[in-house]
Amino acid sequence: MTAPGRPTRIMTGKSIVDSQFERAANLINLDQYMRHILMRPFREVQVEVPVRMDDGRIEVFTGYRIQHNGARGPCKGGIRYHPDADHDEVLGLATIMTWKTALMDIPFGGAKGGVAVDPKRLSKLELERLTRRFTQRISIVLGPYRDIPAPDVATNAQVMAWILDEYSSRHGYTPAAVTGKPISLGGSLGREEATGRGVMYVMMEYARDFGIPLQGSRVVIQGFGNVGGHLARLLSAEAGAKIVAISDVSGGVMNEGGLDIPGLLAHAAARKPVSEWPGGTAISNEQLWTIPCDWLVPAALGGVINKETNAHTIACKVVVEGANEPTTPTADLILEQRGIPVIPDFLANAGGVTVSYYEWAQNLQQYRWTHEQVNRELKATITKAYVGVRDLAKQRGVTFRTAAYAIALQRVAEAERLRGN
Ligand code: GLU
Repeated sequence: MTAPGRPTRIMTGKSIVDSQFERAANLINLDQYMRHILMRPFREVQVEVPVRMDDGRIEVFTGYRIQHNGARGPCKGGIRYHPDADHDEVLGLATIMTWKTALMDIPFGGAKGGVAVDPKRLSKLELERLTRRFTQRISIVLGPYRDIPAPDVATNAQVMAWILDEYSSRHGYTPAAVTGKPISLGGSLGREEATGRGVMYVMMEYARDFGIPLQGSRVVIQGFGNVGGHLARLLSAEAGAKIVAISDVSGGVMNEGGLDIPGLLAHAAARKPVSEWPGGTAISNEQLWTIPCDWLVPAALGGVINKETNAHTIACKVVVEGANEPTTPTADLILEQRGIPVIPDFLANAGGVTVSYYEWAQNLQQYRWTHEQVNRELKATITKAYVGVRDLAKQRGVTFRTAAYAIALQRVAEAERLRGN
């Protein structure tokens, strides 16, 4: 179900997840019936969302909430607003969430939501009305012990606040019904930067194990949103890495000596494109992939590393998947043949959902953790998951991705069996 006009999304969403699933399922000799259960979603909701626009017209948007698996706990995953959001993409992302929560060993299943909309076209009031109406239409399947949304592409703490308000107006004040909320509504310290911070913690471990010291190393980041922005800031401030190039949707900027990230963040906060940053040379989005570097971090949308454009030419020591599904399976094989390791999305970018778990736990206990405590627990959780993946990959001679899948599949299958399936 690939929409026309999307050459880089030839194999994303569900098809990416399926082929990678099979490799790992074979590795752990997973029963056929269990493959059947785990390859399909538990529940899918598709809704039409009519929204009153500022000029009085009504526009109707299509939204999805797909719960892939809830054997290990309530379903968990973000909601994205993007024109390309469709059933297959949301299902693929929901499935990834199941493996991500299992790999981190946090007590959640996997879900994802999406609305096919270009949020840049909407005013703030239109965005609020869209969010409220979408929440009304899916709220029957949500709840702190059922399915808990969070931010994803083009959604943020404000959107989560509207979801919380809609949900709470029906069920009474329920902060644990959504994560990634503003701090003043029960959000967790450290949640906003958590995905970027988690990527950095994984890179720190990998750097030590494989001899690519982060201090002074060259990093290229594709995307300057929540993940790319915080990652760039943390890597330069806390790990001494040099961010030599970074991009947003309209282009990129490069500086061999390392970009001034605090300056660039202030520039982007003023809604200016990164390519207009005076502290470097403007580059195109295509050029970004050709820059030689130690670490290449796709931190935006899916399918950007693919056979057609860049898998044969990327010139980095390691790819770190900050985004969900940035590498197509074919590109993944090409990188493997070229000897370029990939740290997979559901390990590298799991910091967000991990701190979502801490936020949920804090809400249920009505007790607030310090930022230091959140970071400490995040580091411990994601490092433990990393070590498990690294050791299994070494022991079985497989990629990090296959090892990560094998661990996650094993955990979800065990929960399914114990619950009687
Ligand atoms: N959207 C994020 C992800 O893809 C976070 C999900 C969450 O916190 O539930 O992992």
